[in-house]
Amino acid sequence: MRKLHHFHGGVHPPSNKAQSTLSAIAHAPLPSRLVVPLHQHAGEAAKPVVQAGDHVLKGQLIGMPDGFVSSAVHAPTSGIISAIDMQLIAHPSGLPNLCATLIPDGREEWVARKPVDYREHSSAELQHLLRMAGAVGLGGAGFPSDIKLRIGKQKIATLILNGAECEPYISCDDMLMRERAGEIVQGAEILRYMLDADEVLIGVEDNKPEAIAALQQAITASEPALQQNKRHEVVAIPTIYPGGGAKQLIRVITGLEVPSGKLPTDIGVQCFNVATAYTVYRALAHGEPLLSRVITITGNVRKAQNYEALIGTPITELVALAGALPDTSGYIMGGPMMGFPLPALDVPMVKATNCIISTSEKLFPSPPPAMPCIRCTRCVEACPADLQPQDLYWFAQSKEFGRAQKFSLFDCIECGACSYVCPSHIPLVQFFRFAKSEIRAREHDKQLADQARVRHEFHEQRIEREKREKAEKLTAREKSAQTAKLAGTQSLTPQQQAAQAELEAGRAHIIELAKSEVEQVKE
Ligand code: SF4
Ligand code: SF4
Repeated sequence: MRKLHHFHGGVHPPSNKAQSTLSAIAHAPLPSRLVVPLHQHAGEAAKPVVQAGDHVLKGQLIGMPDGFVSSAVHAPTSGIISAIDMQLIAHPSGLPNLCATLIPDGREEWVARKPVDYREHSSAELQHLLRMAGAVGLGGAGFPSDIKLRIGKQKIATLILNGAECEPYISCDDMLMRERAGEIVQGAEILRYMLDADEVLIGVEDNKPEAIAALQQAITASEPALQQNKRHEVVAIPTIYPGGGAKQLIRVITGLEVPSGKLPTDIGVQCFNVATAYTVYRALAHGEPLLSRVITITGNVRKAQNYEALIGTPITELVALAGALPDTSGYIMGGPMMGFPLPALDVPMVKATNCIISTSEKLFPSPPPAMPCIRCTRCVEACPADLQPQDLYWFAQSKEFGRAQKFSLFDCIECGACSYVCPSHIPLVQFFRFAKSEIRAREHDKQLADQARVRHEFHEQRIEREKREKAEKLTAREKSAQTAKLAGTQSLTPQQQAAQAELEAGRAHIIELAKSEVEQVKE
C-alpha cells in the first residue's frame, strides 16, 4: 500500500454529497436556446467565426482560439445562430461578455467527426487537436489543457488525476468516475503518453468507495491497452478539505512540496482533473469537441441530481429540472467554500460550471456581523497553504499590499478554510481576493504607464534624431554650395576675376548710396 503524506491544516465541513448521488447521471433535455460565451477559459477569448443567421452543425467551430493561451468554442447542437452579442454571463463581476446565441433545430446533426489513434501522433500534434477541440480543465479553473501539456524539456515522472472532489455538495466527478471510469482511464493513458510520464496516480477521497472500485476495475479491464511498464494506480486519500487542491493532492500522494511561486511541473508532476481526462478521451478517440459536461444541481431543491447538459444551457432551465423549493433565496455557482453567488439565473452554464447550489436561509443562514480579530490563530491552524491569514487580513484591510505580497498572499488558494473556522466570522477570503485584484490592477496600471513612458521616450528620441539629421543635411548642403562657389571663382581667368571684383565693388557702392539716401529721408 502506498505511503500517504499530510498537508498542513484543512477542515471537515459536512459533505452534503449523498443527496445528489442517489440517481444516475441524467441527460438534460435540449433547451430552446443556448448562449455560448466565447470566453470560457483562462487566457484570450475565442474569435467568432460565424455570423447571425448562419446555420451550424453540432460540433462546428464557432470560436477560433485567439492567442497562445486560448481555446476553441463549438456549437453544442445544430441550429441557427441568432445573435453574436454581449450577454450576461456567470461571473462574480456580473459583467456581460461576447456570446453566440444558438436556436437549436432539434435534429442534433453532427459535423464530420475525425477520431484519431493517439499513438500515431506526436504530443505536439495532439496538443493542437485538443486546442481545437476546446479541451479545458473542468475542475474549475478552465485552463486550456494543451498549455498544461506543453512541458518543453521538463521530465514528468508522475501524472496525477484529481478525483478528490473535496468541496461539499459537488458530486459530478464522483458520478463520472462511477459511470465512465473506462473512458477516464483511457484519457489518463493519452495524457500520460503526451507527457511521457512514468506513472498515473488517480487520487480519490476515501468517501467515494464506488468511484474507487469502478476506477480499479477499469484499470484492470484496460490493461491490454495501457503501456505495460507504466504504473496506473488509484490512490484513496483521506477526506479533508481542501484535499483536492493541486498542491495539497501532490503533497498527500507523493510527499513532494511544490515550492512557492513554482508549478507542479517544476518538480516533475502534472495534474489533471478526472473530467478533463474524460474530455481528452472523447476529443481524440471519438473526434468530439467539448460540447457538454456533467453538472450537479443541488441544495434547496426537490431532487438533487447530476445532469449531462450542453454548454450554453440557461441555468434557469437546469434548476427547473431539479425543482427549486419556494423558500430559495439565491444560487451559488461552484461549492459553498469556493463558489460565488450568481448575479442572475438567466445566465448560461459554461465549461467550468460543475455545480449549482440553490440556497435558503435554513441551509445557509446569513453569517452574523464580523467582529474584530481576537488573534486566536485558528485560521493559521486551518490554512493548507501554511500562511498567516490573520496577518494577511490586517495587510489587506489596511491596504498594505506590498507586505501582503511579502507574506505570500499569492500562495493563498482561496479555499475559504480560514473563514470557515474564524470565530469572529471575518470573511477573510474576500479580503484576500480584494487584495489580489488590487495588486493585479496596480501591476497592470504600472505596466501600462511603463509602456506609455517607453513610447514617449522613443518619440522624443525620434524628434531629436530628425532635428539632428536635418541640421547635418543643411550644413552639408551649405558646405557643398560654398565649395561650388569657390570652385566657380577659381575657374575664372585673371581678367574675368578683375571684372568680377569691379562688379562686386560697384554693387557695394550702390548699396551704400541707397542706405545714405534712406537716412536722409528719415532726417
Ligand atoms: S481565526 Fe479569525 S479571529 Fe482568529 S486569528 Fe484568525 S482572523 Fe483572527
Ligand atoms: S483561503 Fe487562503 S489563507 Fe485562507 S485558509 Fe485558504 S489558503 Fe489559507
